[in-house]
Amino acid sequence: MDTAVNTKLPKCDYEQIIFGNEFAYRGAYFRELLNLNEIRQGGEFIPSECRPEFSTAIIIPYRHRKDQLEAFIVYIHNFMRQQQIHYRIFLVEQNDEKPFNRAKLLNIGAVHAIKEKFPCLIFHDVDLFPMNVGNLYVCTAQPRHMPVYIDKYHFNVVYKDYFGGCVAMRTETFQIINGMSNLFFGWGGEDDNCFDRVKSKGFKICRFGPNYSKYMMLPHKKEIPIVHLKALMENAAKQFHTDGLNSLNYTEKIVILQPFYTHIRVEL
Ligand code: UDP
Ligand code: MN
Repeated sequence: MDTAVNTKLPKCDYEQIIFGNEFAYRGAYFRELLNLNEIRQGGEFIPSECRPEFSTAIIIPYRHRKDQLEAFIVYIHNFMRQQQIHYRIFLVEQNDEKPFNRAKLLNIGAVHAIKEKFPCLIFHDVDLFPMNVGNLYVCTAQPRHMPVYIDKYHFNVVYKDYFGGCVAMRTETFQIINGMSNLFFGWGGEDDNCFDRVKSKGFKICRFGPNYSKYMMLPHKKEIPIVHLKALMENAAKQFHTDGLNSLNYTEKIVILQPFYTHIRVEL
């Protein structure tokens, strides 16, 4: 962690944050970035009043969703700073015209976060907004599926093994499962593939209850599903050990420390 963390400060009090579980989905958090001078270039935050116990990299897969991104960045910084966690936001943008490959972008974000020594990775869609501050953005021992109750699905569980939208996983766990698949160009399947990887290594999925895991999802049109998705999924399921972090190749165009996030532009 940054050497600027003051070891003389008292430890941050997370019990209070969990117990208080403030309802966050309110106007003030959307309208503007509050106290924006607290955020460092590249989208990093280190609490100044207390010593954080957690460091989290938030990794966002992205292309062509400018309005959603602007709303998300404002909201997530307002939300996360209530939690007194050290964090940094990595936006991984697909800079080519191939079908969108969410999982491969997440692998690339993970590589950057690993380089910066983050022990906890949160893979986060740009259109999901956590509603409760008690939903701490930290990693549990088991991989955690975070958006369990989403307004768009009337706050019902999407399907039993649903592992999409937002997942928190220890960096070492992500390395054990060889990251995600690089094969899913287009919409669908990559999250189920990730779920199978996690299970195949003996991990269990963890979820928080409805008081802590409600999300709002911004409306958007449905992306075009992958043709022959089922065949791809069956094929990819046999390749956990050869398809993933250890086979990741891409062209890095540029990394920019934007005022509120680290912007990684890549060609896949
Ligand atoms: N995404 C993006 N541009 C695209 C498609 C997807 O930025 O053209 C990113 C964005 O973060 C989005 C996530 O990938 O939230 C998952 O895609 P989508 O929201 O379409 O999936 P769904 O909500 O239908 O599961
Ligand atoms: Mn979505």
